[in-house]
Amino acid sequence: MLKFTKPQSKKKRQRHAASIMQPKDGQCWICSRVYHCFRKYPNIQKHHVFFGNGLREISEANGFTVYLCPQHHTDGPDAVHRNQRMNRLVQRATQDRFEVNHTREEFMDLIGRNYIE
Ligand SMILES: [Zn+2]
Ligand SMILES: [Zn+2]
Repeated sequence: MLKFTKPQSKKKRQRHAASIMQPKDGQCWICSRVYHCFRKYPNIQKHHVFFGNGLREISEANGFTVYLCPQHHTDGPDAVHRNQRMNRLVQRATQDRFEVNHTREEFMDLIGRNYIE
């Protein structure tokens, strides 16, 4: 009998976790949590709350993700990728949510800095 072996991929397997911040139901985290608008978007986008220096993968693996409408992701004046104040607000809220059932130390081990002061 012939044995087929799968070629070993060189790529490291990426771990995935569901968002700890919200269900994936089409709502934008900023629209709903900041502006209390509960509209659902067909073109909702996943945002990795902590990014740069390998943090994107850590965000993906731990569910540090939010779903955002294009205006609040990249396009509008209060989009997380354009507005540092809004970016920090989402980062603080994510750390806060994580620390409901984890310690500050566990957060620091993953992300390397503290956003809550
Ligand atoms: Zn939005
Ligand atoms: Zn993003």
